[in-house]
Amino acid sequence: MQTPANNPKNNPTSPSASNTSPDVLIVGAGLFGLTMAERIANLLGKKVLLIDKRTHIGGNCYSEFDAETGIECHKYGAHLFHTSDQQVWDYVNQFTTFTHYVHKVYITHYGEVYPMPINLGTINQFFHSAYTPDEARDLIKEQSETAPKAPTNLAEQGISLIGEPLFNAFIKNYTAKQWQTPAEELSPDIIKRLPVRYNYDNRYFNNTYEGLPTNGYEAWFQNMINSCGDKIEVRLGIDYFDDPEIQKLRDQGIMTIYTGPIDQFYDYRFGELKWRSIDLEKSVESVDDFQGCPVMNYADLDPKYTRIHEFKHFHPERAADTAYADTAYAADSGKTVIVREYSKTWHRGDEPYYPVNTADDRALLEKYQDLARSEQNIIFGGRLGEYAYYDMDKTIAAALAKFDELKERF
Ligand code: FAD
Ligand code: UDP
Repeated sequence: MQTPANNPKNNPTSPSASNTSPDVLIVGAGLFGLTMAERIANLLGKKVLLIDKRTHIGGNCYSEFDAETGIECHKYGAHLFHTSDQQVWDYVNQFTTFTHYVHKVYITHYGEVYPMPINLGTINQFFHSAYTPDEARDLIKEQSETAPKAPTNLAEQGISLIGEPLFNAFIKNYTAKQWQTPAEELSPDIIKRLPVRYNYDNRYFNNTYEGLPTNGYEAWFQNMINSCGDKIEVRLGIDYFDDPEIQKLRDQGIMTIYTGPIDQFYDYRFGELKWRSIDLEKSVESVDDFQGCPVMNYADLDPKYTRIHEFKHFHPERAADTAYADTAYAADSGKTVIVREYSKTWHRGDEPYYPVNTADDRALLEKYQDLARSEQNIIFGGRLGEYAYYDMDKTIAAALAKFDELKERF
């Protein structure tokens, strides 16, 4: 089956290994590392060695085309691109086009399905009512009176945004499953990501631009590397901490951009930063359409999974695309791929996904960042290096800003 995944022009291949030493070593081929590599190679003409311990580029944004169905599956959890940052949008469009996909999510609560994020449709369905926007605002105002004026944690923030009944139905148990940390200990910022709307708009994101890379994430990232000619050498399956050749570069004090976990870099000497990890249980189902939407959240403690992703819904345009004619994107294919997402506390050896970011974590991070500031040739960046809950656009923006700040040093 010829899909964009096994089409050789879309497959990542490392440019041939060079004999000369690189000018810059980048640890981690996620979006932060890729963006830095592209800028350093294309704008400064420097030679970059980009390594990753995984066997692919793209970090957590990586996706692959499922061999049985030809459906593009996001290996580390669903990734939807959205941004209001014009600089980031212009930057990414140099390497890929985007589809017109608009993300919509639904949530099941006690056997009933509601639109998410909370909007007038959710409110009216939940209260079996027909409130106007102003009536709904008045109701939520009344129901949020128990929350303090300046919320200091997720529970207070959530109640102040949507009132206690909606918080208890749609946020409390979902958050408990997702973070395994009481909402009273979590940062209010986590819930501020979700819009609350007093109209029937149920777009998940509020951003100006939204879409998915037309030919998949891997093709996008490979284009970034290809745009640099032979300036970037990619080596995969290489761990910064235990590869002898990399060790030599470290000993030479080569300029390094490190996008792995900052506490691991210092061998956890002050202790571990807390992360949340996830388990993704993938299955091929013998139906055309499993759930009728890309993502279904589960608000209650039972079932234990937080959400189910159904990847074919991320690319509805592929159903009519002849390039996908013999894949399960085609109508009446009788196959679909779903992934159940379970959240879990991170332990060493698991993939670190989301920084838990309690007050203790922030104090610990400060200690590691003090050490990092004194490094001459190491720059820390990205989600793991900065211990930051960055969306893709924020990761790219952070890398572009870091490049501008440091380009003289390269
Ligand atoms: P990463 O993608 O984590 O890349 C870091 C890389 O460094 C990894 O490939 C890792 O293997 C490598 N590395 C680490 N240590 C070493 C070492 N010792 N040696 C060699 N290599 C090493 N953002 C959105 O905008 N929209 C979404 O829908 C979205 N969904 C998400 C869903 C989940 C489950 C998660 C976890 C994140 C989501 N994000 C989303 C955020 C997005 O994944 C990040 O913004 C982005 O991946 C950050 O890129 P990065 O380069 O900083 O980190
Ligand atoms: N959230 C919730 N119920 C939902 C969706 C989100 O309680 O149906 C809360 C939860 O605490 C989550 C946060 O809102 O961590 C941010 O949600 P988002 O979907 O942005 O999280 P992500 O996609 O990054 O996992």
